[in-house]
Amino acid sequence: MTHAPETIAARHGAVTDTAFRAVTPPLHLSTTFAHDGWGGKGRFDYARTANPTRAMLEEALAALEGGAGATVTATGMAAIDLAFAPLPAGAHVIAPHDCYGGTWRLLDAHRRMGRLAVRFIDMADPTALAHALARPTAMVLIETPSNPLMRVYDIAAISAQARAAGARAMVDNTFLSPALQRPLALGADIVIHSTTKFLNGHSDVVGGVLISATAEAATEHAWWANCTGVTGAPFDSYQTLRGLRTLFVRMERAEASAARLAASLAAHPAVAAVHWPGLADDPGHALAARQQSGFGAVLSFELRGGLDAARTLVNGLELVILAQSLGGVETLISHPATMTHAGMTAEAREAAGITDGLLRMSVGLEAVEDLERDLLGALEGV
Ligand code: PLP
Repeated sequence: MTHAPETIAARHGAVTDTAFRAVTPPLHLSTTFAHDGWGGKGRFDYARTANPTRAMLEEALAALEGGAGATVTATGMAAIDLAFAPLPAGAHVIAPHDCYGGTWRLLDAHRRMGRLAVRFIDMADPTALAHALARPTAMVLIETPSNPLMRVYDIAAISAQARAAGARAMVDNTFLSPALQRPLALGADIVIHSTTKFLNGHSDVVGGVLISATAEAATEHAWWANCTGVTGAPFDSYQTLRGLRTLFVRMERAEASAARLAASLAAHPAVAAVHWPGLADDPGHALAARQQSGFGAVLSFELRGGLDAARTLVNGLELVILAQSLGGVETLISHPATMTHAGMTAEAREAAGITDGLLRMSVGLEAVEDLERDLLGALEGV
Protein backbone atom coordinates (compact mmCIF):
# COMPACT_ATOMS: atom_id res chain seq x y z
CA MET A 1 0.00 0.00 0.00
CA THR A 2 1.38 3.43 -0.84
CA HIS A 3 1.02 6.08 1.83
CA ALA A 4 0.77 9.86 1.85
CA PRO A 5 3.98 11.75 2.77
CA GLU A 6 2.61 12.70 6.21
CA THR A 7 2.11 9.01 6.97
CA ILE A 8 5.60 8.09 5.75
CA ALA A 9 7.12 10.79 7.99
CA ALA A 10 5.13 9.72 11.04
CA ARG A 11 5.39 5.98 10.57
CA HIS A 12 8.24 4.73 8.38
CA GLY A 13 9.86 1.79 10.17
CA ALA A 14 7.31 1.59 13.01
CA VAL A 15 6.81 -1.97 14.34
CA THR A 16 9.56 -3.44 12.15
CA ASP A 17 11.51 -4.69 15.17
CA THR A 18 11.34 -8.48 14.95
CA ALA A 19 12.83 -9.13 18.43
CA PHE A 20 10.23 -7.36 20.61
CA ARG A 21 7.76 -5.70 18.20
CA ALA A 22 8.89 -2.30 19.47
CA VAL A 23 6.70 0.42 17.97
CA THR A 24 9.62 2.87 17.81
CA PRO A 25 12.40 1.43 15.64
CA PRO A 26 15.39 0.55 17.83
CA LEU A 27 18.75 2.31 17.69
CA HIS A 28 21.48 0.01 16.38
CA LEU A 29 24.88 1.22 17.52
CA SER A 30 26.87 -1.87 16.54
CA THR A 31 29.78 -1.07 14.25
CA THR A 32 29.83 -4.56 12.82
CA PHE A 33 27.44 -7.40 12.00
CA ALA A 34 28.15 -11.13 12.24
CA HIS A 35 28.31 -13.22 9.11
CA ASP A 36 26.11 -16.29 9.05
CA GLY A 37 29.07 -18.63 8.56
CA TRP A 38 31.71 -18.55 5.81
CA GLY A 39 30.47 -16.48 2.86
CA GLY A 40 27.29 -15.62 4.77
CA LYS A 41 27.46 -11.84 4.70
CA GLY A 42 24.01 -10.35 5.39
CA ARG A 43 22.50 -7.00 4.40
CA PHE A 44 24.60 -5.25 7.05
CA ASP A 45 28.33 -5.86 7.42
CA TYR A 46 30.26 -2.80 8.63
CA ALA A 47 28.55 0.39 9.82
CA ARG A 48 30.50 2.87 7.68
CA THR A 49 28.98 1.12 4.66
CA ALA A 50 25.47 0.64 6.05
CA ASN A 51 23.72 0.57 9.40
CA PRO A 52 20.05 -0.41 10.09
CA THR A 53 19.15 2.87 11.85
CA ARG A 54 20.74 5.00 9.13
CA ALA A 55 19.14 2.83 6.44
CA MET A 56 15.70 3.43 7.94
CA LEU A 57 16.20 7.20 7.78
CA GLU A 58 17.54 6.89 4.22
CA GLU A 59 14.46 4.93 3.11
CA ALA A 60 12.12 7.47 4.70
CA LEU A 61 13.88 10.46 3.12
CA ALA A 62 14.13 8.81 -0.30
CA ALA A 63 10.39 8.06 -0.17
CA LEU A 64 9.52 11.62 0.90
CA GLU A 65 11.59 13.14 -1.92
CA GLY A 66 10.43 10.55 -4.47
CA GLY A 67 14.00 9.34 -5.07
CA ALA A 68 15.42 5.90 -5.86
CA GLY A 69 17.82 5.98 -2.92
CA ALA A 70 19.45 8.19 -0.31
CA THR A 71 22.75 8.44 1.52
CA VAL A 72 22.72 10.02 4.97
CA THR A 73 25.93 11.90 5.70
CA ALA A 74 27.61 13.37 8.75
CA THR A 75 26.78 16.97 7.77
CA GLY A 76 24.97 18.89 5.06
CA MET A 77 28.33 19.98 3.63
CA ALA A 78 29.37 16.32 3.38
CA ALA A 79 26.22 15.64 1.32
CA ILE A 80 27.04 18.52 -1.03
CA ASP A 81 30.64 17.41 -1.39
CA LEU A 82 29.50 13.82 -1.98
CA ALA A 83 27.65 14.98 -5.07
CA PHE A 84 30.97 16.18 -6.53
CA ALA A 85 32.90 13.01 -5.59
CA PRO A 86 32.01 11.05 -8.78
CA LEU A 87 32.96 13.98 -11.06
CA PRO A 88 36.26 13.78 -12.95
CA ALA A 89 39.02 16.27 -12.12
CA GLY A 90 38.40 19.64 -13.73
CA ALA A 91 34.66 18.99 -14.29
CA HIS A 92 32.62 22.14 -14.84
CA VAL A 93 30.09 23.00 -12.13
CA ILE A 94 27.69 25.95 -12.26
CA ALA A 95 26.44 27.36 -8.97
CA PRO A 96 24.31 30.33 -7.88
CA HIS A 97 26.31 33.38 -6.82
CA ASP A 98 23.97 33.78 -3.83
CA CYS A 99 24.22 30.23 -2.47
CA TYR A 100 24.83 29.32 1.19
CA GLY A 101 28.24 30.70 2.22
CA GLY A 102 29.58 27.26 3.13
CA THR A 103 28.67 25.90 -0.31
CA TRP A 104 30.32 28.90 -1.92
CA ARG A 105 33.47 28.32 0.18
CA LEU A 106 33.57 24.60 -0.72
CA LEU A 107 33.22 25.24 -4.44
CA ASP A 108 35.69 28.10 -4.33
CA ALA A 109 38.21 25.82 -2.55
CA HIS A 110 37.73 23.07 -5.17
CA ARG A 111 38.25 25.71 -7.85
CA ARG A 112 41.41 27.11 -6.23
CA MET A 113 42.86 23.60 -5.84
CA GLY A 114 42.12 22.87 -9.50
CA ARG A 115 39.73 20.02 -8.69
CA LEU A 116 36.67 21.59 -10.30
CA ALA A 117 36.07 24.42 -12.77
CA VAL A 118 33.38 26.45 -11.03
CA ARG A 119 31.28 29.28 -12.37
CA PHE A 120 29.03 31.31 -10.05
CA ILE A 121 26.14 32.93 -11.89
CA ASP A 122 22.84 34.69 -11.31
CA MET A 123 20.44 31.72 -11.61
CA ALA A 124 17.52 34.04 -12.31
CA ASP A 125 19.08 34.89 -15.67
CA PRO A 126 18.47 32.12 -18.29
CA THR A 127 20.94 33.82 -20.66
CA ALA A 128 23.70 33.66 -18.03
CA LEU A 129 22.91 29.97 -17.54
CA ALA A 130 22.87 29.29 -21.29
CA HIS A 131 26.18 31.12 -21.63
CA ALA A 132 27.73 29.08 -18.78
CA LEU A 133 26.31 25.82 -20.19
CA ALA A 134 28.03 26.47 -23.51
CA ARG A 135 31.05 24.86 -21.86
CA PRO A 136 30.56 21.08 -21.25
CA THR A 137 29.08 20.95 -17.75
CA ALA A 138 28.76 18.14 -15.22
CA MET A 139 26.47 19.74 -12.66
CA VAL A 140 24.21 22.72 -12.08
CA LEU A 141 23.50 23.55 -8.44
CA ILE A 142 20.16 25.15 -7.57
CA GLU A 143 19.35 26.55 -4.14
CA THR A 144 15.76 27.67 -3.79
CA PRO A 145 14.67 29.63 -1.90
CA SER A 146 18.20 30.97 -1.66
CA ASN A 147 20.05 31.61 1.56
CA PRO A 148 19.67 34.32 2.87
CA LEU A 149 17.77 36.39 0.30
CA MET A 150 14.90 33.93 -0.25
CA ARG A 151 15.07 34.29 -4.02
CA VAL A 152 13.02 31.63 -5.76
CA TYR A 153 14.47 29.86 -8.80
CA ASP A 154 12.60 27.79 -11.37
CA ILE A 155 13.63 24.19 -10.71
CA ALA A 156 11.81 22.72 -13.73
CA ALA A 157 13.21 25.28 -16.19
CA ILE A 158 16.79 25.17 -14.88
CA SER A 159 16.79 21.34 -14.67
CA ALA A 160 15.50 21.10 -18.25
CA GLN A 161 18.15 23.58 -19.45
CA ALA A 162 20.86 21.60 -17.60
CA ARG A 163 19.64 18.24 -18.96
CA ALA A 164 19.53 19.54 -22.53
CA ALA A 165 23.20 20.48 -22.14
CA GLY A 166 24.10 17.05 -20.69
CA ALA A 167 24.48 18.26 -17.08
CA ARG A 168 22.87 16.98 -13.89
CA ALA A 169 20.78 19.34 -11.78
CA MET A 170 21.18 19.24 -8.01
CA VAL A 171 18.82 21.09 -5.66
CA ASP A 172 19.59 22.11 -2.09
CA ASN A 173 16.12 21.68 -0.55
CA THR A 174 17.18 22.53 3.01
CA PHE A 175 14.97 25.62 3.37
CA LEU A 176 11.67 23.94 2.53
CA SER A 177 12.09 20.19 3.17
CA PRO A 178 10.09 17.64 1.16
CA ALA A 179 7.02 18.78 3.10
CA LEU A 180 6.92 21.93 0.95
CA GLN A 181 8.98 21.18 -2.18
CA ARG A 182 9.87 18.03 -4.14
CA PRO A 183 12.59 18.91 -6.68
CA LEU A 184 12.91 15.42 -8.23
CA ALA A 185 9.29 15.60 -9.38
CA LEU A 186 10.21 18.90 -11.07
CA GLY A 187 13.03 17.28 -13.06
CA ALA A 188 16.11 17.55 -10.81
CA ASP A 189 18.55 14.61 -10.61
CA ILE A 190 19.80 15.03 -7.07
CA VAL A 191 18.41 16.60 -3.89
CA ILE A 192 20.53 17.41 -0.88
CA HIS A 193 19.61 18.61 2.59
CA SER A 194 21.31 19.84 5.64
CA THR A 195 19.19 17.60 7.90
CA THR A 196 20.54 19.78 10.69
CA LYS A 197 17.68 22.11 9.79
CA PHE A 198 13.96 21.36 9.34
CA LEU A 199 14.24 17.58 8.84
CA ASN A 200 15.64 17.00 12.33
CA GLY A 201 14.11 20.24 13.51
CA HIS A 202 15.33 20.32 17.11
CA SER A 203 18.78 21.93 16.80
CA ASP A 204 20.49 18.90 18.30
CA VAL A 205 21.95 17.02 15.31
CA VAL A 206 24.29 18.09 12.51
CA GLY A 207 23.63 15.92 9.48
CA GLY A 208 22.95 15.72 5.77
CA VAL A 209 21.42 13.59 3.06
CA LEU A 210 21.85 13.15 -0.67
CA ILE A 211 18.88 11.68 -2.56
CA SER A 212 19.26 10.46 -6.13
CA ALA A 213 16.54 10.19 -8.76
CA THR A 214 17.89 6.96 -10.26
CA ALA A 215 19.00 3.69 -8.68
CA GLU A 216 22.24 3.87 -10.67
CA ALA A 217 23.13 7.29 -9.23
CA ALA A 218 22.07 6.20 -5.72
CA THR A 219 24.45 3.22 -5.92
CA GLU A 220 27.26 5.45 -7.18
CA HIS A 221 26.77 7.95 -4.34
CA ALA A 222 26.55 5.18 -1.71
CA TRP A 223 29.81 3.75 -3.09
CA TRP A 224 31.56 7.10 -2.78
CA ALA A 225 30.14 7.74 0.70
CA ASN A 226 31.56 4.42 1.90
CA CYS A 227 34.83 5.04 0.08
CA THR A 228 35.40 8.49 1.56
CA GLY A 229 33.74 7.69 4.90
CA VAL A 230 31.28 10.59 5.08
CA THR A 231 28.27 8.53 6.19
CA GLY A 232 26.22 9.66 9.21
CA ALA A 233 26.31 8.22 12.73
CA PRO A 234 23.52 5.85 13.91
CA PHE A 235 22.55 8.00 16.91
CA ASP A 236 22.25 11.08 14.70
CA SER A 237 20.06 9.09 12.31
CA TYR A 238 17.87 7.93 15.20
CA GLN A 239 17.39 11.51 16.39
CA THR A 240 16.70 12.75 12.87
CA LEU A 241 14.09 10.04 12.27
CA ARG A 242 12.47 11.13 15.54
CA GLY A 243 12.44 14.75 14.38
CA LEU A 244 11.04 13.73 11.00
CA ARG A 245 7.92 12.33 12.69
CA THR A 246 6.60 15.87 13.29
CA LEU A 247 7.98 17.55 10.15
CA PHE A 248 4.66 18.35 8.52
CA VAL A 249 2.99 19.89 11.59
CA ARG A 250 6.13 21.85 12.48
CA MET A 251 6.37 23.30 8.97
CA GLU A 252 2.71 24.28 8.92
CA ARG A 253 2.81 26.04 12.28
CA ALA A 254 6.14 27.79 11.69
CA GLU A 255 5.03 29.00 8.28
CA ALA A 256 1.84 30.52 9.72
CA SER A 257 3.93 32.46 12.25
CA ALA A 258 6.40 33.51 9.54
CA ALA A 259 3.51 34.94 7.52
CA ARG A 260 2.39 37.13 10.42
CA LEU A 261 5.93 38.31 11.25
CA ALA A 262 6.69 39.06 7.58
CA ALA A 263 3.60 41.27 7.40
CA SER A 264 4.49 43.09 10.65
CA LEU A 265 8.05 43.71 9.51
CA ALA A 266 6.95 44.88 6.05
CA ALA A 267 4.70 47.51 7.68
CA HIS A 268 7.49 48.89 9.91
CA PRO A 269 9.16 52.19 8.86
CA ALA A 270 12.67 51.02 9.92
CA VAL A 271 12.48 48.06 7.54
CA ALA A 272 13.52 48.73 3.93
CA ALA A 273 12.56 45.30 2.54
CA VAL A 274 11.26 41.92 3.64
CA HIS A 275 12.27 38.84 1.67
CA TRP A 276 9.66 36.10 2.08
CA PRO A 277 8.06 34.49 -0.99
CA GLY A 278 4.71 34.29 0.80
CA LEU A 279 4.25 38.07 0.52
CA ALA A 280 2.05 38.87 -2.48
CA ASP A 281 4.49 41.53 -3.73
CA ASP A 282 7.61 39.37 -3.34
CA PRO A 283 9.31 38.89 -6.74
CA GLY A 284 9.33 35.11 -6.18
CA HIS A 285 5.70 34.85 -5.06
CA ALA A 286 4.08 33.51 -8.25
CA LEU A 287 6.83 30.98 -8.91
CA ALA A 288 6.87 29.85 -5.27
CA ALA A 289 3.09 29.43 -5.33
CA ARG A 290 3.52 27.20 -8.39
CA GLN A 291 6.51 25.04 -7.48
CA GLN A 292 6.21 24.89 -3.68
CA SER A 293 3.36 23.64 -1.53
CA GLY A 294 4.08 26.28 1.12
CA PHE A 295 6.24 29.36 1.58
CA GLY A 296 8.38 28.14 4.45
CA ALA A 297 9.45 29.57 7.77
CA VAL A 298 12.65 31.44 6.91
CA LEU A 299 12.61 35.12 6.02
CA SER A 300 15.12 37.90 5.82
CA PHE A 301 14.78 41.66 6.06
CA GLU A 302 16.87 44.72 5.46
CA LEU A 303 17.04 47.62 7.86
CA ARG A 304 17.26 51.18 6.55
CA GLY A 305 19.92 51.94 9.15
CA GLY A 306 22.40 49.29 7.88
CA LEU A 307 24.92 47.59 10.17
CA ASP A 308 24.29 49.86 13.20
CA ALA A 309 20.55 49.24 13.04
CA ALA A 310 21.08 45.49 12.71
CA ARG A 311 23.30 45.49 15.81
CA THR A 312 20.81 47.60 17.79
CA LEU A 313 17.90 45.36 16.83
CA VAL A 314 19.71 42.15 17.72
CA ASN A 315 20.91 43.55 21.05
CA GLY A 316 17.35 44.59 21.89
CA LEU A 317 15.85 41.11 21.45
CA GLU A 318 14.95 39.08 24.52
CA LEU A 319 13.22 35.99 23.12
CA VAL A 320 14.56 35.56 19.59
CA ILE A 321 18.02 34.00 19.79
CA LEU A 322 21.08 35.33 17.94
CA ALA A 323 22.55 32.14 16.48
CA GLN A 324 23.51 30.50 13.19
CA SER A 325 21.34 27.77 11.69
CA LEU A 326 17.62 27.49 11.04
CA GLY A 327 14.76 25.03 11.03
CA GLY A 328 14.60 24.34 14.76
CA VAL A 329 11.72 24.72 17.21
CA GLU A 330 13.22 27.97 18.50
CA THR A 331 13.26 31.24 16.57
CA LEU A 332 16.78 32.25 15.55
CA ILE A 333 18.10 35.43 14.00
CA SER A 334 21.44 35.79 12.27
CA HIS A 335 23.47 38.47 10.56
CA PRO A 336 24.60 36.82 7.29
CA ALA A 337 27.42 39.27 6.50
CA THR A 338 29.27 38.47 9.75
CA MET A 339 27.92 34.96 10.45
CA THR A 340 26.61 32.44 7.88
CA HIS A 341 28.12 34.19 4.86
CA ALA A 342 31.36 35.45 6.40
CA GLY A 343 33.15 32.74 4.38
CA MET A 344 32.41 34.72 1.19
CA THR A 345 34.60 37.62 0.16
CA ALA A 346 33.07 41.10 0.57
CA GLU A 347 32.96 41.39 -3.25
CA ALA A 348 31.10 38.06 -3.56
CA ARG A 349 28.61 39.17 -0.90
CA GLU A 350 28.05 42.45 -2.71
CA ALA A 351 27.51 40.64 -6.03
CA ALA A 352 24.97 38.38 -4.31
CA GLY A 353 23.14 41.35 -2.74
CA ILE A 354 23.94 40.48 0.89
CA THR A 355 24.08 43.86 2.61
CA ASP A 356 25.33 44.74 6.11
CA GLY A 357 21.78 45.68 7.16
CA LEU A 358 20.36 42.25 6.28
CA LEU A 359 19.09 39.93 9.01
CA ARG A 360 17.80 36.39 8.51
CA MET A 361 15.22 34.85 10.77
CA SER A 362 14.15 31.23 11.11
CA VAL A 363 10.73 31.18 12.74
CA GLY A 364 10.13 28.48 15.33
CA LEU A 365 7.19 27.21 17.32
CA GLU A 366 6.84 29.83 20.07
CA ALA A 367 3.56 31.78 20.36
CA VAL A 368 3.64 34.23 17.48
CA GLU A 369 2.36 37.02 19.77
CA ASP A 370 5.50 36.66 21.92
CA LEU A 371 7.75 36.74 18.86
CA GLU A 372 5.99 39.76 17.41
CA ARG A 373 6.20 41.68 20.69
CA ASP A 374 9.91 40.91 20.95
CA LEU A 375 10.66 41.98 17.39
CA LEU A 376 8.57 45.15 17.42
CA GLY A 377 9.96 46.09 20.84
CA ALA A 378 13.55 45.75 19.61
CA LEU A 379 12.70 47.70 16.43
CA GLU A 380 11.63 50.68 18.57
CA GLY A 381 15.26 51.28 19.47
CA VAL A 382 16.45 51.20 15.84
N1 PLP B 1 22.77 24.12 2.68
C1 PLP B 1 22.13 25.15 3.27
C2 PLP B 1 21.06 25.86 2.50
C3 PLP B 1 22.46 25.54 4.55
O1 PLP B 1 21.83 26.58 5.12
C4 PLP B 1 23.49 24.84 5.25
C5 PLP B 1 23.90 25.22 6.62
O2 PLP B 1 23.52 26.25 7.12
C6 PLP B 1 24.14 23.79 4.59
C7 PLP B 1 23.74 23.44 3.33
C8 PLP B 1 25.24 23.04 5.27
O3 PLP B 1 24.76 22.13 6.19
P1 PLP B 1 25.55 21.66 7.51
O4 PLP B 1 25.73 22.85 8.38
O5 PLP B 1 24.63 20.62 8.09
O6 PLP B 1 26.85 21.08 7.07
